[in-house]
Amino acid sequence: MATPLLEIRNLKKSFPVKEGLFMRAKNFNQAVNDVSLFIQPGETLGLVGESGCGKSTLGRCLVNLYQPDQGQILFNELDINTQNRSERKQYRKAVQMIFQDPLESLNSRHTIEQILTEPFVIHRIGDRQWRLKQIKTLLDLVGLPSNSASRYPFEFSGGQRQRVGIARAIALRPELIVCDEAVSALDVSIQSQIINLLLDLQDEFNMAYLFISHDLAVVKHFSDRVAVMYLGGIVETADSETIYKSQKHPYTRSLIDSIPVPDPHNKAKRLILLGDIPSGINPPSGCRFHTRCPKVMPICKIEEPKIRDLTSSHSFSCHLD
Ligand code: SF4
Repeated sequence: MATPLLEIRNLKKSFPVKEGLFMRAKNFNQAVNDVSLFIQPGETLGLVGESGCGKSTLGRCLVNLYQPDQGQILFNELDINTQNRSERKQYRKAVQMIFQDPLESLNSRHTIEQILTEPFVIHRIGDRQWRLKQIKTLLDLVGLPSNSASRYPFEFSGGQRQRVGIARAIALRPELIVCDEAVSALDVSIQSQIINLLLDLQDEFNMAYLFISHDLAVVKHFSDRVAVMYLGGIVETADSETIYKSQKHPYTRSLIDSIPVPDPHNKAKRLILLGDIPSGINPPSGCRFHTRCPKVMPICKIEEPKIRDLTSSHSFSCHLD
């Protein structure tokens, strides 16, 4: 295997649950539990799972918005926790994020010019003339007219605002972008425009994407490989085609079966999940999926399944053969 651009080793992140008069942390919500993943240069890794499974927390750990409790994040083989100041600065340039709600992530009191200038100001790149030229190029790259620079985020539609968010994310020519539900809030027709834009930019700049989504139908068209997450842990990883055609984990199967099919006469047996994802404060024993799994066996309630490699690119954690 070629050297990964990014490697996550046994990452854990939990949040204190504060209770009582003095708001003491009596419990911890395990949002990310022992996750290991890698992303190759220029590839798209889809990360899917229901809301609350920990995928956004994982993404935020990668861009230093959260500090992991345990585990390692290696970027170009360097542990980001042992980086010196200049290496950390390089990492912050190289790994960017696109958020779900561009209106929340863009400062509504700043013009688009101010928003897009900010990354250059923070990293002290170029003078005013150079930055203005870059902004023009960025707007052009994301398909916005050059007169957008003097306008404010609220003057744009949701899709246009996401284009601004993308322009800001690519301003420093990153090597990896964490796209956190980047198209979930958009209409379906706009979703495909934004996805096509991300694909075009990937072709042009050879960036890798960690594409986080609860919608497997979207991830399907976009990712080279897919990692499926359930209650803080990765339950299956494979290339996109394998995930859709010969997945092994019942949870992956249920996510695929929940994708609407256009043919109402298609009566293929579907594995539909019941109930909600359990709380990470007191997760189920054994296999964390056992409370909802249609194929649960007695051993599943006692023993946590280990991750098994079926092939060099397909792994899953389940007691089923
Ligand atoms: Fe279902 Fe058991 Fe497999 Fe978990 S280990 S997914 S409960 S069959």
